[in-house]
Amino acid sequence: MSTNTNKPSKFTALNAPLYEYLVQHSVREPEVLAQLRRETSQLDMAIMQISPEQGQFLSLLVKLLNVQDAIEVGVFTGYSSMSIAMGLPQNGKLIACDINKEWTDIAQRYWREAGVENKIELRLDLAVNSLQNMLDEGKQHQFDFAFIDADKTNYKNYYELCLQLIKPGGVILIDNVLWGGAVIDDSDQSDDTLAIRKLNKFIYNDSRVELSMLPVADGLTLVRPH
Ligand code: CA
Repeated sequence: MSTNTNKPSKFTALNAPLYEYLVQHSVREPEVLAQLRRETSQLDMAIMQISPEQGQFLSLLVKLLNVQDAIEVGVFTGYSSMSIAMGLPQNGKLIACDINKEWTDIAQRYWREAGVENKIELRLDLAVNSLQNMLDEGKQHQFDFAFIDADKTNYKNYYELCLQLIKPGGVILIDNVLWGGAVIDDSDQSDDTLAIRKLNKFIYNDSRVELSMLPVADGLTLVRPH
């Protein structure tokens, strides 16, 4: 048996050409999402948009889990919310939380264009407030799915609030858990990096949940509360 010395034994590191291969052999991006991606790429904060393979993964996961009620924390211009909504059944519902009107105006325009606007309820407020309001409305453990992708210093708050909103056996997804590799760079002591490191460690030791940290895009932790 030949040994390929370029091949790590337990994981395959992605480089740009291999990533390109992955995209070319898996991503079937609907035209409306491609348009939104192009429009968003003109914005200063374009880096905040999720990648197309991640959007497709969210959409497929929502279908696989038969998600009916979903939460999104951090809408930006709506690529992830549109992906989630496309995976929901006709009577499914996504509550999308963001504070920025300028960005979510773009999102809403595309939700309409994609015909998913009736599945999405936008809550324009600090996301901690929106999530707390949902609890105050009696929505404890009413949701099947949550995607957290917003300001990192509030990640722990979002995680705890989502744990109260998600059904046992539901799923919480947390984006950017590898933070461009900064999680292992001790010289990086920025607030965002510290918050992500802290949450990663906390979830690892959290006996309330099962987890899997996936090397999708910038790292995606999948959490299943008992
Ligand atoms: Ca993100």
